[in-house]
Amino acid sequence: MDCLFCKIAAGEIPAKIVLETDEVVAFHDINPQAPVHVLVIPKKHIAKVSDMTEDDIELMGKVIYAGKKVAEQLGIAEDGFRLVFNNGRMGGQHVYHIHLHVLGGRAMLWPPG
Ligand code: 5GP
Ligand code: ZN
Repeated sequence: MDCLFCKIAAGEIPAKIVLETDEVVAFHDINPQAPVHVLVIPKKHIAKVSDMTEDDIELMGKVIYAGKKVAEQLGIAEDGFRLVFNNGRMGGQHVYHIHLHVLGGRAMLWPPG
């Protein structure tokens, strides 16, 4: 499948990896929107949150847990951080392999825009 994040998960396209398990990979965003901006993906291709099935519930829990581990590893856990899933066109999604944004190192704004 011609998917950028599947290729990163397979090691076919380089990325600055933060954490990796059998099922998930976390890597630095190429265009960071905060001092810390990491993406966490499942290695399994799921295009977006809307395409999740009940079979994916445990896997996506692991994605969120990896987000927590990334925050600890990069020193933003104590001060707080933001986790975001953009979903679909109006949700601002550009890469159609489900990914969790881990953002931190500065105060986040609300509403997010
Ligand atoms: P989305 O807009 O789909 O929620 O987020 C996609 C994210 O992927 C963006 O923040 C963008 O900067 C990041 N991104 C796009 N292409 C690459 C790439 O080749 N490598 C990395 N590390 N990040 C990418
Ligand atoms: Zn993919």
